[in-house]
Amino acid sequence: MAIPSYDKLFIGGEWVEPATDRKIEVVSPINNQVIATVPEATEADMDRAVAAAREAFDNGPWPRMTPEERAGYLKRVGEEVVKRSPAMAESFTNEIGAPAAVATAFHENARKMWDDASTLYKRFEFEEERTWDESGRGKLVREPVGVVATIIPWNGPVATGSLKLGPALAAGCTAVFKPAPEGPVSVMMLAEAFEAAGLPAGVVNVVPAGREAGQYLIEHKDVDKVSFTGSTAAGRKIMASVAERIGNISLELGGKSAAILTEDVPLEKVLPTLVFGGLGNSGQVCAALTRVLVPRSRQDELVDAMVAAYKEVKVGDPREEGVALGPLAAKRQQERVLEYIEVGKSEGARVAIGGGVPDGLEEGAYVEPTIFADVTRDMRIANEEIFGPVVAVIPYDTVDEAVDIANSTDYGLSGAVYAADDATAEAIARRVRTGQIGVNTWDMCVTQPFGGYKQSGIGREGNVEGLSAFLETKLMMY
Ligand code: NAD
Repeated sequence: MAIPSYDKLFIGGEWVEPATDRKIEVVSPINNQVIATVPEATEADMDRAVAAAREAFDNGPWPRMTPEERAGYLKRVGEEVVKRSPAMAESFTNEIGAPAAVATAFHENARKMWDDASTLYKRFEFEEERTWDESGRGKLVREPVGVVATIIPWNGPVATGSLKLGPALAAGCTAVFKPAPEGPVSVMMLAEAFEAAGLPAGVVNVVPAGREAGQYLIEHKDVDKVSFTGSTAAGRKIMASVAERIGNISLELGGKSAAILTEDVPLEKVLPTLVFGGLGNSGQVCAALTRVLVPRSRQDELVDAMVAAYKEVKVGDPREEGVALGPLAAKRQQERVLEYIEVGKSEGARVAIGGGVPDGLEEGAYVEPTIFADVTRDMRIANEEIFGPVVAVIPYDTVDEAVDIANSTDYGLSGAVYAADDATAEAIARRVRTGQIGVNTWDMCVTQPFGGYKQSGIGREGNVEGLSAFLETKLMMY
């Protein structure tokens, strides 16, 4: 399990000595062993990183280039990401436990994001003429918001970071990028891609750290915008802190996305994306389809079909051929998910499959793919984000009730509606309050606007909507 360690931080376009000798030990969830170390950035490092980003923004070439010039750099970042994708994917597998196919797909997504970021300028007007009243005449100028603090979780760090940084850089912003301590190594490889692409000094600064240094970063007076992905709990706290300076913020938070199945839908139309939507990356995906709303009369048929499909999912060491489900990201996550499974049992839900640690895999952070049936809408497992391979099947009696249940959590990130025809599915999907929703399918589309309603977040990432989040609007009047 050879993944590289790092002993320097990427600040001001150089690999620099950290202010202290504190290290993050990266523990593999496959076997609970320390597999690499990276420096742990502290407040002094954050000050240095913010100063580098500030200097690059205030006096450097980046915000002053044309959008097309910047796009050339972003294209090169994408090419450098492609070169490193196999190593990043291997690192991600070892750090977080994602099977090779998942890790490869996530890094392919990162490439798509850089490609998309490098073409944004072609479909976005950074400046436009405006006229008003009798003789009002002006220019609307969209300018970069400034220095961005970019904070991400561990469940897909290179892709999640790319989804923020691509549009931020396209806008002309500079960034301080803090990955989570659980999965920093693939992000250090991304820093190498930035260096190889020749980004001007200080445009992106990469500083792995934990919560305290993260909190210090988001409170920094020289940070103009915070772009955060992670739990709703952390998002709430960060938003409250940033409110002190009326700071600009975008949040991409948790989810409890529902799949609604109608009375007449053929199951073969449903199962492939439903199973993938609930179990992909061991359910550690914010948009995961973790609630399945099914007509009461069809619950048994659906649960039997899902159980049969789950039995086909090979759980094990994610480095092994054919394994579709690896461990959770860390022992802490495993404990949390197992606790939720106990909560579900005590609430009276029925375990249709799974419910524990798979035999022979006690060493790592594994949890069996689990289906709860007979779940009711008031149960905690029907409302709270579990972030593991645990799906709640909730029977309903009318479509109105199904829509009401789908909309009844604090979240609103993704979802799916499956019906015999697209028109019926679409009519129901229009009533579900989420940022993305599948109509007789499910996926997580990362090159179109992604984000949530309600406590799933504020703002959208990806494409021109994601770009807009990193721009201020100025009206110049003549
Ligand atoms: P978290 O939200 O606490 O951490 C995510 C990132 O935010 C990390 O980089 C962390 O260091 C940073 N962070 C946390 N608090 C911060 C603060 N006050 N200021 C600045 N940075 C801060 O998530 P976690 O502890 O890794 O996971 C806990 C649970 O969160 C998971 O079990 C899951 O339910 C949920 N989660 C959701 C997503 C998602 O994409 N929706 C991602 C990760 C975790």
